[in-house]
Amino acid sequence: MNTNEINLVVGAGFSGAVIANLLASELGEGVLVIDKKDHIAGNCYDFRDKNGIMIHKYGSHIFHTNSEKVWNFIKQFTDFNTYMHKVVGYLDGIETHIPFNFNTLYDVFPESFARRLEEKLLDVFEINTKVPILEFQKQDDDDLKFLANYVYEKIFLHYTTKQWGVSPQDVDGAVTARVPVYLSKDNRYFQDKYQGIPLEGYTKVVEKMLDHKNITLKLGTDYKELKDKEFKRIFYTGPIDEFYDYKFGQLPYRSVNFKFETYDKEYYQSGACVNYPCNYDFTRIHEYKYYLDDKSDKTVIAKEYSENFELGKNERYYPIPKDENTVLYEQYLEESKKDKNVYFLGRLGDYKYYNMDSAIERAIEVFEEVCE
Ligand code: FAD
Ligand code: UDP
Repeated sequence: MNTNEINLVVGAGFSGAVIANLLASELGEGVLVIDKKDHIAGNCYDFRDKNGIMIHKYGSHIFHTNSEKVWNFIKQFTDFNTYMHKVVGYLDGIETHIPFNFNTLYDVFPESFARRLEEKLLDVFEINTKVPILEFQKQDDDDLKFLANYVYEKIFLHYTTKQWGVSPQDVDGAVTARVPVYLSKDNRYFQDKYQGIPLEGYTKVVEKMLDHKNITLKLGTDYKELKDKEFKRIFYTGPIDEFYDYKFGQLPYRSVNFKFETYDKEYYQSGACVNYPCNYDFTRIHEYKYYLDDKSDKTVIAKEYSENFELGKNERYYPIPKDENTVLYEQYLEESKKDKNVYFLGRLGDYKYYNMDSAIERAIEVFEEVCE
């Protein structure tokens, strides 16, 4: 170890890069950042392919936040375009808006029936309310019961079964609540104040966070293989169960397999993301050139297939929010209190379904708690 590197950060994703940047710039302390992958940025890694199209290797990433703190922090490292994510899905062969909203209602039902449903909905709910599907199903009126069953069956049931391997009733309500029924005409996927794609991509943002004279970066380096582990502080953004050699058992994850295809035409589909809740084995198709409006006579898409995470076979993508998994995670959290100088954070370290903004916010909080 270089004696100046008194902090170790394991993982060069957003969580690791934010905390390393703060240690280096705010405290002026030396930091060694390691990642077992051969690139930085973790699951947010993107790169320009030979056609000049910015590819998100581990799935589409759209930045969105309501947090001024997070926005002000990330804006130090990049400007954003004003991309606002819209998702369409095929319901009964009709390409329409997801989340389900009033425009969806008029797309899938005859106008007179849609109007009746709209009026009844506005008797029950305030305009612009977001209602999680499991809540939306609790209807007394027969028409609204029909509508709730339609939305459940056509949007949530098969998609969730493909994505999580179980039905919507068997995943934590917070998961399906990410995509509520939206009693509005707003077709956007997110309503956050700040949204967009970094103009030079996410990898560049992380690169800039790590570009500091006090930071040393070593890629292709697994914590397990690190010989000297004597640091003042260790910030660990890898899986907490792996850190403790799975002594209480493995924390379950869902994984994803992206099948990339290149086409000799300008566009493949009508927008960046098309969901297939009822058809095929994949959940959605991403078309990358939309995010930064990349110009090319070719286009690259990825079909997203969900699968179970198996150690040694594929990667961890989604922690699975579920009571029994929280209990197991808390055993590890309790164990971690014995290691006085080791701090866990990030989607894998905290075993939490963080979006990028929450991962950044959590890293800032850990820095403030530990170092200030
Ligand atoms: P990671 O990015 O997973 O980084 C952890 C790093 O630690 C990895 O690079 C890993 O290689 C390294 N590591 C692990 N173990 C070790 C070890 N033993 N030694 C050394 N290194 C190690 N968020 C949004 O806000 N918007 C989106 O649109 C969005 N889309 C997503 C789509 C998909 C398919 C997925 C899976 C996630 C999406 N997210 C999105 C969430 C986003 O990816 C995460 O919030 C973010 O990547 C979390 O960063 P992190 O640093 O905590 O974890
Ligand atoms: N979901 C669904 N149908 C859709 C979109 C989402 O059933 O068309 C459910 C599904 O359970 C999914 C969850 O809502 O896992 C959250 O969706 P989101 O798009 O936020 O997931 P992510 O982008 O994190 O994969």
